[in-house]
Amino acid sequence: MQQTRDALILRLENAARQVRRDLWRALRAGGSGHAGGSSSAADILAALYFHRLRVRPTEPAWPDRDRFVLSKGHANAALGAVLAQAGFIDDAMLDRFYGFESPFAMHPDMKLPGVEMNTGALGHGLAIAMGMALGARIRGQDFHTFVMVGDGELHEGSNWEAAMAASHQRLGNLTLIVDSNRIAQSGPLPELVNVEPLADKWRAFGWAVREIDGHDMGAIVDALAALPLEADRPSAIIAHTVKGKGVSFAEDTYLWHSNNVDDAILARALAELEAP
Ligand SMILES: [Mg+2]
Repeated sequence: MQQTRDALILRLENAARQVRRDLWRALRAGGSGHAGGSSSAADILAALYFHRLRVRPTEPAWPDRDRFVLSKGHANAALGAVLAQAGFIDDAMLDRFYGFESPFAMHPDMKLPGVEMNTGALGHGLAIAMGMALGARIRGQDFHTFVMVGDGELHEGSNWEAAMAASHQRLGNLTLIVDSNRIAQSGPLPELVNVEPLADKWRAFGWAVREIDGHDMGAIVDALAALPLEADRPSAIIAHTVKGKGVSFAEDTYLWHSNNVDDAILARALAELEAP
């Protein structure tokens, strides 16, 4: 059994490394983009799409699929990399990131198979996901809805309106993942508007909460296996992450929230993301 688990973790870690390689490749194709928040989310996205989500890449509109909304839409390079590796889209689409008339743009676009919602205007995804979860209950469907927000995104007050409504509706079929990399577009969150203590805030809003290391694949898998964390409550996974994770010059700095990527930078990034 332990061997099976070890194999799963290793498979997902390798998939996440490939996601990071592919997102940097996409950013080079576009010439710029959001390396920091894409990289902090990569391990969680890999665990979702290659292990947890009930989806059919060849049938992206399957009615009973689990839903995933990337509310922090600026991390779309990572979502596209995951969708390509999962088989929703052709791998060659990554080389059209941010290209003329490409559906793979700086933010998610529903024209790309597998994308559930256009996002990137921050603070909307949680309310949308809540609607999906409520809709599932009304229609008697058993799919689970996941939404990922950034910690800086929690500055948007609309998140807290949705947080209240979701716990009022006792939506056990809804899971929020906070990519808590402690940095937003223009600096560290404590120097902007502090959002801590995050776990206490979500508990106060009636959610069941678990905090994890968002780069520990075992912890990610265990948290996803434990859902819902409590029956009849929405679940919040606070994932402590590192912005730019995996590439040393991009780690833990707002300078790589969004930045230009040329051939030399891509080469440096890929050198640190070599396959094992
Ligand atoms: Mg952040």
